[in-house]
Amino acid sequence: MTGTRTGRRGSTTAWADIDLHALGRNLERLRRGLPSGQAVFGVVKADAYGHGAGPVGRALQRFGVDGLVVADMGEGITLRRAGVTAPILVIDPPLQSQLRLPALHRLGATVTSAAEARALATAANRAGRTVDVHVRVNTGFAGFGAAHADLIDVLAAVSVAPALRLEGLYTHLSGVYGPYEDGGLVELERFGEAVDAARGAGLLPPLVHALSSPALDRPLLTNAAARIGCTAVRCGAALFGIRMVDGEGSASLAPVMSVKARVTRVTVLEPGDVADYATAGAAPRRTPVAVLPFGFSDGHHLHRLAGGVLLIRGCPAPILARPFMSSLLADLTDIPSVQPGDEAVLIGRQGDHRITVEDIAARSGLRPSAVPLLGPRVVRRYRTSATGEEPPE
Ligand SMILES: *Cc1c(COP(=O)(O)O)cnc(C)c1O
Repeated sequence: MTGTRTGRRGSTTAWADIDLHALGRNLERLRRGLPSGQAVFGVVKADAYGHGAGPVGRALQRFGVDGLVVADMGEGITLRRAGVTAPILVIDPPLQSQLRLPALHRLGATVTSAAEARALATAANRAGRTVDVHVRVNTGFAGFGAAHADLIDVLAAVSVAPALRLEGLYTHLSGVYGPYEDGGLVELERFGEAVDAARGAGLLPPLVHALSSPALDRPLLTNAAARIGCTAVRCGAALFGIRMVDGEGSASLAPVMSVKARVTRVTVLEPGDVADYATAGAAPRRTPVAVLPFGFSDGHHLHRLAGGVLLIRGCPAPILARPFMSSLLADLTDIPSVQPGDEAVLIGRQGDHRITVEDIAARSGLRPSAVPLLGPRVVRRYRTSATGEEPPE
């Protein structure tokens, strides 16, 4: 099944619990924090940031999201096949070989040049369908989008094509990913000029969007965006309770994913036993250890995680040395009672302790949104109620 990994009952030793109830609450809280009338688009690229595009896309649709955003056509088609009927916007403009796909799968296309608009119009015409188009304008981030000087030509090329519907105008702001209250404001003002130009030419579409997760709890930015005419936001990380910037949304968003594994073995390293290929690091003393079926192929951040811990029996157990491809060793010196089969938490809460995606990102030097991108062996289990359900046996 698309976007879902299933394990045989009883065979699962490492899994990610995905709390769709928390996802819904996050959407609700984000909505409440925005100036009224803003549409919310859920960004579910990269398999919904590792949470599973199909189940997450369907859940967001049930929770009333206004649309979904993906990076490429293939991700859009995956969502359609998973039963998502909500509007979907694809960020990458279609390649020549993909021009028919927006019409065939009812995907909203991004257009950044008049030539792209004309090619897409020809393909949509042939398919006998109307395609929704969002024009992306560059406000300084990595060269994505139409140049400001070309904007009116691009908008006009879309609006004159009967097979295209000019639905949106957008940009993406890099500055909001910095730690500053007003980060992104200069880019947003540039976008405001583009919006004014479009309005002046009579070519302003209904959906105007610029802000992403880290901006959504900064009134300075949300108010400025509403003032220049923004009518929507695109939100990925925050929906999953992931904070891209320190302090962002700190009070109100709940993590959606927790990651767990069962201890497969408990053993003892004798002084001199080697616990790490690369450094041939030898245990300095007798060390009781748990073997966990979770290595860097299951969570690539582990490869860079130094001094990390996981939770067993409600206590932190230091990750010993560097994880292997499919397993890791945890130091049980302070928790000698651990048994094979015990549940360990790699991300999430156990007892009074909590390991967050943000902690792991800070330790491993990764962006927080990279941490939940897990390997194919980690089974995802979806919880849909506030009460939850049993872990796999
Ligand atoms: C990934 C992406 C987003 C979502 O960013 P978050 O910080 O996760 O909310 C929004 N817009 C575009 C264009 C993107 O590529």
